[in-house]
Amino acid sequence: RKVSKAMREQLLDKIPKDLIDLLKAIEKIAKKRKEKVYMVGGIVRDIILGIPNKDIDIVVEGEGIAFAWDLKNELNGEKIVVHEKFKTAVVIVDKDLKIDVATSRVEYYEYPTSLPSVDYGSIREDMYRRDFTINSLALEVDYQKFGELVDFFNGYRDIQNREIRILHNFSFVEDPTRIIRAFRFASRYDFKIEEETERFLKDAVENGFLKKISWPRVKNEFKIILGDKNPEKALNFLEKYDVLKNIHHNIKLTEKMKKHLEELNSLGEMFSQLKLKKWIMAFLILMEDLKSDEIELIFNKFSFSQDFRKKYEFGIKKRSEALSKLKKADKNSEIYDTLNEISFEVLMLIYLEGKKSSREKIRKFIFDLSKIKPLVTGADLISVGYKPSPEFRKILEDALYRQLDYKGITKEQLMSNINKF
Ligand code: ATP
Repeated sequence: RKVSKAMREQLLDKIPKDLIDLLKAIEKIAKKRKEKVYMVGGIVRDIILGIPNKDIDIVVEGEGIAFAWDLKNELNGEKIVVHEKFKTAVVIVDKDLKIDVATSRVEYYEYPTSLPSVDYGSIREDMYRRDFTINSLALEVDYQKFGELVDFFNGYRDIQNREIRILHNFSFVEDPTRIIRAFRFASRYDFKIEEETERFLKDAVENGFLKKISWPRVKNEFKIILGDKNPEKALNFLEKYDVLKNIHHNIKLTEKMKKHLEELNSLGEMFSQLKLKKWIMAFLILMEDLKSDEIELIFNKFSFSQDFRKKYEFGIKKRSEALSKLKKADKNSEIYDTLNEISFEVLMLIYLEGKKSSREKIRKFIFDLSKIKPLVTGADLISVGYKPSPEFRKILEDALYRQLDYKGITKEQLMSNINKF
């Protein structure tokens, strides 16, 4: 481990000003508590790559939880969430900033092969447990070595060479989630998987180790991949290396899906105001060719909530029916009636499949029709003597549809129609 002064300065230059301020606050507490603290993992990797990352992870060689309380007080943070069992805490400073604080573990005896370094106490152990060398870097937040890179496993070199490399031969066997993670990082950063690492990865897949990952962990990794910028790249890898097949034997990445996933990237900007969850849309695209019972099985495996199911399972089943109805819909009310009960994420799938005129109708629905406030409300009906009844809903729907179809119609005109009812 060797850090030149020039490199330290080069690194510090890449850290945004607000993060430097934050690190200084962390340093102050470290000094007071006489503990060593490091910023670790993904954020260090991304600083070197010059990519913004808001997930701040720090490791304390000492009492992580007590440190986190001090940090919360120092920063006037909103909240702290403590996990006693794992000796970790999350300091929620405000809605845009949260800091994960971990305690560096000290059970050296579990790892007889790697001797603790005297200088670096347990941080070496902590880094050794990481998935890839590119994620095994730590940045000193120490008052004497502030900004120095602690690099035990040549992570810096691998970032420079754009390579994903495991830290030891049993890495994928020890935690097969790393198989999915390898593809996630390879595709996100356009890195290649180093030759030997690739061999170990293939061995692990061939020997069925993917089956050992719990579904919540698969789900978690998938959510991140599908929400990333170009999910089709990672999915291509997952298909090529038989990982998708292990999720469900019928999930196949078709050319149509790839096209849709690519198009999704451009939709992102167009529909960004809708705050749609990209991973959900990408996930639904993956389900495109599956039958109802297969979709249900996957939704079960991923333990989606009832709400989620109602919203999306129903939608994907109704998708083709909605598209053919939409083609024939001319009046605003017909468009509204076709699309109203479908979640926006599913509407995006219909949009991808639809031709120009259907796409226009969907856009009209999302940006115009769905926002229109009904002129006639339930209270209006009650005021003219209606009693709440099943008929109610129908009358209100009729009034709204008329409102949608006759631009400029007034509430009085709508009410006079209702009174004649
Ligand atoms: P992202 O930017 O997608 O959040 P990240 O590298 O921060 O990427 P996380 O999944 O948030 O990824 O994990 C944070 C850190 O924890 C990683 O950088 C890595 O060092 C470590 N880590 C996460 N999962 C594993 C794993 N399965 N095995 C070993 N280390 C892991």
